[in-house]
Amino acid sequence: MDNKINLSFEEMWVKIMACDQTYDGLFFTAVKTTKIYCRPSCKSRKPKKINVEFYDDIQMVESAGYRACKRCQPEVEHSPHTQLIKKVTAYLINEYKQQLTLQDIANHVGISPYHLERLFKQETGETPRTYLEKVRIDKAVYFLKNTSYTNLEICYEAGFQSPSNFYKVFRHLKHCSPSEYRTQDQ
Ligand SMILES: [Zn+2]
Repeated sequence: MDNKINLSFEEMWVKIMACDQTYDGLFFTAVKTTKIYCRPSCKSRKPKKINVEFYDDIQMVESAGYRACKRCQPEVEHSPHTQLIKKVTAYLINEYKQQLTLQDIANHVGISPYHLERLFKQETGETPRTYLEKVRIDKAVYFLKNTSYTNLEICYEAGFQSPSNFYKVFRHLKHCSPSEYRTQDQ
């Protein structure tokens, strides 16, 4: 298992509250009171924050005595390509600050860029580039809500190469500017 991801508790918490399926398979939500574990995207009633622990390894969550949720079935792999896709998404989540080309990503998993792009699109509905943009915007959102970094600092901290690109992608995914987002209650 080399798919460990660098996400803080707070970041994972935000993703499960949003039922974000972008991170399915990369970590699991375990609820201490029910002893059940879920995918990040599970639509079941949300647990209290204090009762949650996160695992990034399915063997570990099961040996800690948790049972798979019947609704989101976190133990089921829906495609023979799940492991490969996980390797790609974990890489993008961990290396978001680097300038990654499609070739870099393809090298990481040992297939051709063409094959990677086709397979990734088929499995996730995204290209590696649009997936990486989502990950970067999630980072930006985290910084906007939890730090006092300026928009420019956040742009580079989140892995964008230019403010104009940062603002464009941010608006596309969040339908407002970073400053507007920061002052919203959400
Ligand atoms: Zn569930």
